[in-house]
Amino acid sequence: MFNEETRLSVPIRWGLVGGGRGSEIGHSHRAAAARDHLFTFVAGALDLDADRCADFGHKMGLDQDRCYPHYKAMFLSESQRDDGIQAVSIATPNSTHFDIAKAAIEAGLHVICEKPVTLNVQDAITLKALAEKHNRFFAVMYGYAGYPMIHQAKEMVKRGDIGKVRIVNMQFAHGFHSEEIEKFSEGAQWRMSPTVSGPSFIIGDCGTHPFYLATLITDLKVTSLLCARQSFVESRSPLEDNANILFKFDNGAVGTLWASAINAGSMHQQKIRIIGEKASLEWWDEYPNQLRYEVQGEPAQVLERGMGYLYSDIDAVGCSRVGGGHPEGFFESWSNLYHRYALVIDAIERQDEEAQKSLWYPDIDAGIDGVKLINSCVKSADAGAVWVDYE
Ligand code: NAD
Repeated sequence: MFNEETRLSVPIRWGLVGGGRGSEIGHSHRAAAARDHLFTFVAGALDLDADRCADFGHKMGLDQDRCYPHYKAMFLSESQRDDGIQAVSIATPNSTHFDIAKAAIEAGLHVICEKPVTLNVQDAITLKALAEKHNRFFAVMYGYAGYPMIHQAKEMVKRGDIGKVRIVNMQFAHGFHSEEIEKFSEGAQWRMSPTVSGPSFIIGDCGTHPFYLATLITDLKVTSLLCARQSFVESRSPLEDNANILFKFDNGAVGTLWASAINAGSMHQQKIRIIGEKASLEWWDEYPNQLRYEVQGEPAQVLERGMGYLYSDIDAVGCSRVGGGHPEGFFESWSNLYHRYALVIDAIERQDEEAQKSLWYPDIDAGIDGVKLINSCVKSADAGAVWVDYE
């Protein structure tokens, strides 16, 4: 069970870049950071529009002089205050992540960055080196990774409950972009622009999520992949709105990933099915409190979050916040991650290496892996859907 008594003597002073009024993901960051009182939201460069940032930030409770027109002004000004921010989250479009994250680390800040963390692998590696050099925390916001049943699945695979993993099937295939909604949606517009989105649309936007979850659960590493991608809405070319990927893993397992924005009628369909020698696990993000456990030759079981039959010693934080039967959801998953971020940041500040090592979270290596996925897929698809090394 979640330990509500964990408190920091002084909550971490936290700022946000991006996530302005009407943005898709800004509220999720603010809600998750606020949930357990381990962060205090004190500053923001929330918007490309300075007036809208000032108005929105102030109405959310920020002091007027801490609503900044630009992230550089925020980092400079906050670094000169005794009560300046210690950590920052970056919730801006993809192409801006590298410059903002680099500036943040160089300003001495711990960083929580949206995915895909950068547009190319080298930039992500540069951020890793920079964070290590400055001893700063760096997390990448794979927000679904905070669901307790993901941790249960990981533990089941680790303990051999399904036997050696043979097949990993992943998908995140929604229908929200079945039509050319970028004609009137700003959030969709930048996603279809290679200069802002990067070399991929839907693989980066959605495919990276189940990919991260599945590799987290199985601990498998991809060795090579083959990708075919299409732009069913032609104006999106060269960026794909649909992709099918085949994987080979280091233990001999194989896998598939379907990432789509044109799966008409579908909400998310983010599903992961892990098939072992003797049983399979299946998780669906629209029913995140349940995990299907199907043992060959036995009736299928649906494991429920919050129940005593789950592995209880999964982690130090203890994610379940309410008893089984009451649905937990997306915000709890994000809060579980922000909770960990706060504890690790605090441990770094206290130079407590043992506490740092005891806490898992999606780190910069997870971010690098996501960018490798995108780049390898683009390389494969653009060469005519051929097998390429994962790099
Ligand atoms: P959005 O277009 O809805 O919002 C972007 C916000 O950032 C806007 O408020 C905009 O004004 C602001 N902005 C843009 N450039 C800025 C800059 N240089 N400085 C300050 N503010 C700036 O985008 P979104 O859908 O919220 O996506 C933002 C990021 O979050 C993307 O990288 C996206 O891939 C990621 N994302 C992640 C998840 C997840 O589940 N982890 C979900 C959605 C989006």
